[in-house]
Amino acid sequence: MSDSGEFDLIANYFTHRWPSRDDVVLGIGDDAAILTPAENSQLVIATDTMVADVHFDQQTPARAIGHKIAAVNLSDLAAMGAEPAWLSLALTLPKVDEEWLNGFSHGLREICEYYDCQLIGGDTTKGPLSVTVTAHGFVPADHALRRDQAKPGDWIYVTGTLGDAGLALAAQQQRVQISDAHYRRVLERLYFPTPRVAIGQSLRDIASSAIDVSDGLLADLRHILKASNVGARLAVDELPLSMALTESVNEEQAIQFALTSGDDYELCFTVPESKRGVFDTLMSRHPAKPTCIGRLTNEPHKIRLEHDGERWQGQLEQHGYEHFRTA
Ligand code: ADP
Ligand code: MG
Repeated sequence: MSDSGEFDLIANYFTHRWPSRDDVVLGIGDDAAILTPAENSQLVIATDTMVADVHFDQQTPARAIGHKIAAVNLSDLAAMGAEPAWLSLALTLPKVDEEWLNGFSHGLREICEYYDCQLIGGDTTKGPLSVTVTAHGFVPADHALRRDQAKPGDWIYVTGTLGDAGLALAAQQQRVQISDAHYRRVLERLYFPTPRVAIGQSLRDIASSAIDVSDGLLADLRHILKASNVGARLAVDELPLSMALTESVNEEQAIQFALTSGDDYELCFTVPESKRGVFDTLMSRHPAKPTCIGRLTNEPHKIRLEHDGERWQGQLEQHGYEHFRTA
């Protein structure tokens, strides 16, 4: 419910020249949307919130906030192997700021266009800046990727490169010094993450488990280890690192970023030995080609970090970001 007249205008912002889909019977404008789910499929639904001064700061461009709140939700769908279809948006704004709304809606619309999603409704309220998106998608019945089906011996993979968003944040907070060119590169990764939607879907009958890396590789991999009751051996010298990262910090720091910093929105997943051949062929030409970084073990919940086959001697200073973490 809106609490002032001008807030009523906001839904108009999200309708003019936005993409529409055939499976939306009724979109924005009524009390609720009416949708036709695809046949023989299951609905997959994810929600994420970003709050000002918690998930982003004052200098974050509105377009980045619009992009990212959609991207992180599509990243969750990707980690389930789902095809995205519909988004809804809950917006809490301190005031009606046209410039901000322009930027924000632009960022959100770009994602809707690229991934063929339709914004089907939402809510607008007055209060401290916060944005919430719910993403709805489909998987063929019983073919979703989950966290609880991994087995000892499965290979561990990760898409793209790790640690870039963390480096951007560290540079922004002046915890590290990096070149302008590298800063631009990694800031793009922090502000405009790419959800691995196509890879997620192509992993459906291949991966034994999957998760998206939002809190840091170790923190997120641990969720798979817990759900599947397995352990992992990781080769830290195999972690996929960008040139921006390796040229900005020393090797140990680069590994720390890759293992523990969040916001990368890459996929981490496991592939059984029997599916590895099919998988390698399928992925050989992919731009965010997954890298094999280790293997699951039968030691529940244990993560062993190795460098050139020996136990890694490096230190881990940061941890995956957790809200409400107790010391
Ligand atoms: P109601 O009081 O019935 O909830 P609203 O004024 O909140 O009606 O919303 C009117 C229409 O605009 C609804 O279809 C709703 O889904 C849509 N809407 C409102 N806010 C947003 C938003 N931020 N993004 C997308 N759609 C919105
Ligand atoms: Mg409402």
